[in-house]
Amino acid sequence: MSYKQTYQWVVDKNNENLRNAKGIKEAALLINQNEIIAFPTETVYGLGGNAKNDEAIKKIFAAKGRPSDNPLIVHVATMEQAAQLVINQPEYGTKLMEVFWPGPLTLVFNGGKDVSPYVTAGLETIALRIPDHPVALALLEEANLPVAAPSANTSGKPSPTVAKHVKDDLYGCISGIIDGGDTGVGVESTVVDCTGDYPMILRPGGITKEQLEAVVGRVDVDEALSQQNVAPKSPGMKYTHYAPNADFILVENKEVIGELIHSKQQQGFRVGVLTTEEQKDKYKADVVICCGYRTDLATVAKRLYDSLRTFNEKEVDIIYSETFPKVGVGVAIMNRLEKAAGGIIIR
Ligand code: AMP
Ligand code: MG
Repeated sequence: MSYKQTYQWVVDKNNENLRNAKGIKEAALLINQNEIIAFPTETVYGLGGNAKNDEAIKKIFAAKGRPSDNPLIVHVATMEQAAQLVINQPEYGTKLMEVFWPGPLTLVFNGGKDVSPYVTAGLETIALRIPDHPVALALLEEANLPVAAPSANTSGKPSPTVAKHVKDDLYGCISGIIDGGDTGVGVESTVVDCTGDYPMILRPGGITKEQLEAVVGRVDVDEALSQQNVAPKSPGMKYTHYAPNADFILVENKEVIGELIHSKQQQGFRVGVLTTEEQKDKYKADVVICCGYRTDLATVAKRLYDSLRTFNEKEVDIIYSETFPKVGVGVAIMNRLEKAAGGIIIR
């Protein structure tokens, strides 16, 4: 489906009367008419549609070019709305909701019979979250529907952290974009399966394992996250993601990056490097992009996707990237970088 025009609204997240803002009113109405709208959340921009309507959900998959076996996260405004979509909610699931919602935590429960089967990709489970962003919450309240929303990018590309990224990928393919400024966390929500005896992390994200453990004790991690050749329990995790157009290679030992750059330049290639403020002056690459401070991984998460997208504008042939310690939000950062690299790491 193509649109002659994609509406664009600028909405100030500090507006005290957000539900009455023109962008929120019009976008909520369009969602009720089964159109699809991009909006900011605290993780990345989402592409939302009425979770109860097959046509709306089919539009989301078509606009993104998303494989139909990759289910969507359903966004709601309240815990009561979530409870209506879930069966057999374990006690630890309730605790996680109470502590981390609204926030960057998606919980997978048994249920999903009340939404379109396209949302759950035919599974008997449903992924739910209340986002922690005033614009997203105002839209959900005003639409008064569960809103299925994957990231608002073309499938395979880095997720959008500003409205321009959405426009670059989806202008003319969706009904509207609410520009609410940049997002906060910068990487997607943590996805936790709540259908077993203990919670299990299916995708690392904005909430860390340590934070979850502090609330519920034992937390398992899907073994597919650390082992190749094991099928992930979350369908979306099997796809290549977040990749810039150039070859993207992770390099564990920062000391050899200089030599690698030199050798590729000798062969006539334009070389990019993804680094941090602390290291940036060390490299003589054609394009040096700096994503935050190594000493503060939250700043790296925030700038990660914008950095990956910027390489596309600079037309490099190959990109070398530093790696990061897998602690705290570093686990999510490395998960995305390893996917962007398609598993290619120079150790
Ligand atoms: P995205 O919306 O692009 O951030 O991706 C949503 C993630 O949630 C994907 O990795 C999906 O596979 C995962 N997900 C959504 N619904 C379910 C579910 N019912 N069970 C397991 N994973 C899910
Ligand atoms: Mg996505």
